[in-house]
Amino acid sequence: MKKVFPLLVVLVLFYFASCSIQSGSRIPASEQYVVMLSMDGFRWDYADRVETPYLDYIASRGVQAEYIKPAFPSKTFPNHYSMATGLYPDNHGIVDNNFTCTDLGLTYRLGDREAVENGDFYGGEPMWVTAEKQGVTSASFFWVGSEAPVQGIQPTYWKRYDGRVPFTERIDTVLYWLQLPIEKRPRLITFYFQEPDSQGHRTGPDSPEIDELVVQLDSLVGLLINGLKALDHYRYINLIVTSDHGMTEVSPDRYVDISEYTPRDWYERSHGGNPILHVNPKPGMIDSAFAILSEVENISVWKKADVPERLNYGTNPRIGDLVILADSTWSLGWGKPRNTYYTGGAHGWDNAKKDMHAIFYAMGPAFKINHRHPAIEVVDLYPLITRIMGLKPAEVDGKPERVEGMLR
Ligand code: AMP
Ligand code: ZN
Ligand code: ZN
Repeated sequence: MKKVFPLLVVLVLFYFASCSIQSGSRIPASEQYVVMLSMDGFRWDYADRVETPYLDYIASRGVQAEYIKPAFPSKTFPNHYSMATGLYPDNHGIVDNNFTCTDLGLTYRLGDREAVENGDFYGGEPMWVTAEKQGVTSASFFWVGSEAPVQGIQPTYWKRYDGRVPFTERIDTVLYWLQLPIEKRPRLITFYFQEPDSQGHRTGPDSPEIDELVVQLDSLVGLLINGLKALDHYRYINLIVTSDHGMTEVSPDRYVDISEYTPRDWYERSHGGNPILHVNPKPGMIDSAFAILSEVENISVWKKADVPERLNYGTNPRIGDLVILADSTWSLGWGKPRNTYYTGGAHGWDNAKKDMHAIFYAMGPAFKINHRHPAIEVVDLYPLITRIMGLKPAEVDGKPERVEGMLR
């Protein structure tokens, strides 16, 4: 009998807690917030290897998808811009981390500030542009595309990328933005950590360093959740924690030197980087280069029009005439690699490969509780978020029907 009282209290508390959660579903879309964090290169299974109480918390109070599938190529820039626009790289124009833009007569490189901040490179409509056009204030603490005016528009608050800014400072700023007076407060916030990608490149996805880092990143997610909970308008806020791609182990023993088969001077241009190159053979050389490379083991080569349809890649003029892709876990390049190269981890391979898949967690008034969801794609984030916030979406490649089932 003694035990009944606490049990009753728990049941009553649970009833009221679930009522307050249920009432969240009545918050109009036009009053809901979305805060989206991308942790670069957070492979779908990293959180299964260590204790991640805060990611588990999001899953139990909200949604966890089996994985989120990157767009091809599974690299940072194409994917963050696909997350923002709902378009495949073929259709938004950021076709790799580095590429030649014959349409603009310019080269795009991830490390080149002038290029990264030149709005002419960026097609489609990032979600913050959709928001701002419809009178919704947005903010971004680092996101590919947010540093350039797209259709002449940037987030109201944005930051020039600087990887040295501590992650805690990024979280504090997001929480500060959320405490601005309502007329200045952003209702859409996107922000970014460059880990665990950098560590994954150095020591590989299966290293103890990754396990340790994932624990730290989870505690940062905890810091964010606790900061959000302290806000008066917490119950209006949806939190999404996701990533752009996974990571796989590489080795100098699994390397294809393209120049062993076709000399570098057969090509006018070569762009991209391990494990994908898009190249333009000199006039008259394309058929010979294609025929020779087709016979080489551990790589695939396609004329750009013949890239498999499932990769959604090959119609954009910024992609080279030939696309050369190493098989999963294999590397490729020009010339013999130095022995420090092709160790640790990398990404960029075929997006059907399990190792390229990443995490997706979400909770808040829009999301079902304790819901496990099948795989989604990075292009689905745009239809998901515009729907949650009651924004009229642009036409995109992402599929609302792949995400609707996770909403209340
Ligand atoms: P990746 O080569 O695909 O692994 O690219 C990951 C790297 O992209 C990160 O380590 C960052 O250094 C860089 N990065 C991410 N976002 C930005 C940005 N907005 N501007 C410049 N560099 C960025
Ligand atoms: Zn990345
Ligand atoms: Zn990376």
